[in-house]
Amino acid sequence: MKVAVVKESAPGERRVALVPETVPRLTQAGLEVLVEAGAGDGAWFPDSAYTAAGAAVTSTEELYATADVILTVTRPDAAALKRLRSGQAVIGMLSPLTDPHLVSDLAAAGVTAVSLDGLPRTLSRTQVMDALSSQANVAGYKAALVAADAYGRFFPLLITAAGTARPAKLLVLGTGVAGLQAIGTARRLGAQVSGYDVRPASKGEVESLGATYIELTSAVSAAGEGGYARELTAEERGAQQAELAGHIARHDVVITTAQVPGRRPPLLVTEDAVRQMSAGSVIVDMGASPLGGNVAGSVAGETVVTANGVTIIGAQHLAAAVPTAASNAFSRNISALLLHLVNEGTLAIDTTDEIQAGVVVTHGGEVVHPAVAKLLAAEPTPSQGN
Ligand code: NAD
Repeated sequence: MKVAVVKESAPGERRVALVPETVPRLTQAGLEVLVEAGAGDGAWFPDSAYTAAGAAVTSTEELYATADVILTVTRPDAAALKRLRSGQAVIGMLSPLTDPHLVSDLAAAGVTAVSLDGLPRTLSRTQVMDALSSQANVAGYKAALVAADAYGRFFPLLITAAGTARPAKLLVLGTGVAGLQAIGTARRLGAQVSGYDVRPASKGEVESLGATYIELTSAVSAAGEGGYARELTAEERGAQQAELAGHIARHDVVITTAQVPGRRPPLLVTEDAVRQMSAGSVIVDMGASPLGGNVAGSVAGETVVTANGVTIIGAQHLAAAVPTAASNAFSRNISALLLHLVNEGTLAIDTTDEIQAGVVVTHGGEVVHPAVAKLLAAEPTPSQGN
């Protein structure tokens, strides 16, 4: 079976789905590995490193014409969609719940789509395949660096002949995988760090990193299914936003990471909260998206400075901005999942398997993932194909 690694095409995307180091794991399992020329360039893996590891570097045309399985980081673009053939499989982070129409296009083309986003994350045997966690970890690290870079003062306490600088006070809102890594990184840079989440279970994790956990008096416990948060009611949201505003105003730097599966990111930092912050404060909104983010006034992919001097960074592509580390981790994740799907050298799709039930989205011309099928049935609009 031929497994092919494509060159990513999304703007700002520098990751590659498979790194040379992982190639032998696949060839030892009897798979042939093809790599689109230049696929690893953005993450500093030259074609020669793939060839040395036992892969064959090929043209785009040959790759799509001959591959059985395509490995990608993010969704195929419109040009790739035209090239995919019936019977081929695509494995990557396809965001089927936010882009269900890509899924219907793949099903119509007879392509088997496998998305790492749907992996059941709490099984111990899926930890090695958990790309959401590995990429959130990289993004959380980068968020702390982006914040430090934009901040006009030091993060650590510095005592010098030219005076004493107090440490930056940094608040992380949403302390899942990305938030915990942002806390750890900001602590290593010397900031005084606090964390807050709606899941009470995260208190111990925040404190174990040496940060202060903020508990709200209007405390809402919003632990949802599978370790995720649930969406707050309008009343809970209002109480949370009002109380958080006071905490936000006491901090110099705020990093927000809050997500609720399948919903738009919750608004945690209101316009009023931003107005209460001091000039020179920095907010990094990791939830920034075209639908809105965690912070009022954040624009995805842009940096905005408010009238009262607060810099709001609508962070996007943070994992892609640390491309080598992110690709190394992703490569381990995707190769572990691929090897789980392969039996006697070919892809063996079986949605009665607990892991496959989460990740296999289309097969045999059908959308086989129930949650995605339900979404598609609810709102039929055409794919954007980009
Ligand atoms: P995520 O990206 O879905 O969300 C980020 C954080 O935002 C979460 O901690 C969430 O609770 C928080 N959040 C959502 N709404 C909020 C609100 N209104 N106010 C404040 N915070 C809000 O989360 P994630 O990083 O993918 O992690 C989700 C959970 O899955 C965590 O409990 C994590 O420990 C768990 N997890 C477990 C495993 C495992 O068992 N192996 C692996 C990965 C993640």
